[in-house]
Amino acid sequence: MDLSEAMRRVADLSRTIRHHDYAYYVLAQPELSDRDYDLLYRKLLDLEKAFPASVLRDSPSQRVGGQPQDGFESFRHSVPMLSLDNTYSIEEVRGFLDRVQRLLPKQELIWVVEPKADGVAVSLRFENGEFKVGATRGDGTVGDNITANLKTIKSIPLVLRDAGAGMGRIPVCEVRGEVYLSRSGFLQMNEERRKAGEAEFANPRNACTGSLKQLDPRIAAKRPMDIVIYGIGEISGLEEADLHSHSTVMALLNSLGFRTPNRTWTCHTESDLLEAIKDLERNREGFEYEIDGAVIKLDSLMQREIVGHTAKAPRWAMAFKYAAERAITILKGITIQVGRTGALTPVAELEPTLLAGSTISRATLHNEEDLNRKGVRIGDHVVIEKAGEVIPAVVSVVKDRRRGDERVFQFPGECPACGTEVVQAPGKSGGGVIWRCPNRHDCPAQIRGRLELWCSRRSMDIESGGTVLIRQLVDAGLAKDSADLYDLQSDQIVSLERMGEKSARNFLEGLQSSKKQDLWRLVFGLGISNVGAGVAKTLCRSFAALDEIAAADAGQLAAIHEIGDVIASSISEWFGDEANQRMIERLREQGLKFKSELYEDSEDSDKPLTGKTFVLTGTLPQLKRNEATARIEAAGGKVSGSVSKKTSYILAGADPGSKLEKARKLEVTILDEASFLQLLEQ
Ligand SMILES: [Zn+2]
Repeated sequence: MDLSEAMRRVADLSRTIRHHDYAYYVLAQPELSDRDYDLLYRKLLDLEKAFPASVLRDSPSQRVGGQPQDGFESFRHSVPMLSLDNTYSIEEVRGFLDRVQRLLPKQELIWVVEPKADGVAVSLRFENGEFKVGATRGDGTVGDNITANLKTIKSIPLVLRDAGAGMGRIPVCEVRGEVYLSRSGFLQMNEERRKAGEAEFANPRNACTGSLKQLDPRIAAKRPMDIVIYGIGEISGLEEADLHSHSTVMALLNSLGFRTPNRTWTCHTESDLLEAIKDLERNREGFEYEIDGAVIKLDSLMQREIVGHTAKAPRWAMAFKYAAERAITILKGITIQVGRTGALTPVAELEPTLLAGSTISRATLHNEEDLNRKGVRIGDHVVIEKAGEVIPAVVSVVKDRRRGDERVFQFPGECPACGTEVVQAPGKSGGGVIWRCPNRHDCPAQIRGRLELWCSRRSMDIESGGTVLIRQLVDAGLAKDSADLYDLQSDQIVSLERMGEKSARNFLEGLQSSKKQDLWRLVFGLGISNVGAGVAKTLCRSFAALDEIAAADAGQLAAIHEIGDVIASSISEWFGDEANQRMIERLREQGLKFKSELYEDSEDSDKPLTGKTFVLTGTLPQLKRNEATARIEAAGGKVSGSVSKKTSYILAGADPGSKLEKARKLEVTILDEASFLQLLEQ
């Protein structure tokens, strides 16, 4: 056989295998026995081995390819991946329906109810019909590029099926879905791990997250992951008329080769919708994946556009979560945890029990008030509840199972970590009263809590800076605040118990690279009360540098949108503290970044594209879409997903979508890649 003959056969076989993958993984209607399928696949591998030049990029054999990676690249979503508002209350669902109806007065609304798979949200980007990039949601704007791992999932097509009219090669088709491990796949995998003496996964979702974060795609390929697609992100090259409703989008995605939910409900009235939610709950166990709720979506895409979205979530959709799962177990004891703000939290130590697929041995009792109100005693049978990501909590006591030897818990008058007498303080967002250890600067528990936050992935993201190391550093008196970490010497760390040279080096390197982290991470890592990552970002958008934030008074801070009086006063209080000021000075000397990269100065006209909004469409000859976006943003411009009167330029490549026509109508300046590059140079 010569190469051209081999190439022809390889192409044929690839096409046949793709067809059978679709029948098996997407339609669940296999047309071949497993054995016949394996034979086909073997034939393809043999041919490709004999004629390496015949291997196609999108060959079914290329699902598991490449070498383990060092890490994941970031990927910027061209259309943000918003999350959904969610609720456990039917009343709130009614309120949501009313709100949408008020925004669309007198219009007929059609709702779609879909199962909410408890998995990991991802975005899949296809360009000219080929699977290009798959990424996690991340913070909604930037996620991790996990393409290699996603390619191992057989229900993700490597090339789109041609749904007629050249649809299979549309320039850009970005779909969103949920990757999951089926219940049966999860049980089987844990069984195998048990036999191999490996640690079992707590639940299907953790196993799925872990599998997608594998740096070696060969490991990911062994995990029985699957995907269900529930919507689109960016799409171009289709007439808008083709996509007027969610139902038509889903039908199109189905014909392009994607797996969509195998059951959904279309509802015309509120009572239909509430009945659908109940129906789905009754049939929850019938799905092969875990379902934690129902997603309610407006069907009409035009109505969706009118209703719009907030910064975080669309206004046209909501998730109704099914009641949390509960279990009864014995409360063996109560310990007191001291957090980084000094708050004392009673924690129930439980007889381990299985709840929502995880083994639970601790649950929160919130605070003393809560504990007293529930009348919890040591030795009681208690009802515990876990809802989604929330920490499991003790909800009530089963009093008729008391035997009389249960003991009342005495809330301590001193901090269990440092012995300081505790004081009363208002709880979070005014919710009741809590006990606090006032020994802010010397309480080891508070120091540990603050250092843990500083090192955590959510803030400064310092490698190897985990709980164990931090406890040892604090116990050995080597670190009292974040600035101390940057004074640490290698031999000091190595001298700690159970600390190898390699981890010590990783930790020191992690500290070095953390000096370059964005300012908002640093601000969040300071652990100021009420300042989460979101507020930290807001601050860094409003001020150019840390010194400006520190110098602002509560009034100036409260004037910023999204920052209320409570947050403003905790910020100015924090920066007013002398010990904190000294720490900030040391961090400055140690070379941490104090300048904000997020700062948006409306008068800053240094950058050539400040104030300009771009819309991208079609495929550019050289630049990838994310590269073009990066260049625009670096030059001070913004990229938007849709064309409006405010659009300054549309950057168009080959096979542009309807955006180009809209831009023409609105007389927006149209650029090709060459003139775009010229504009950047000016
Ligand atoms: Zn203390």
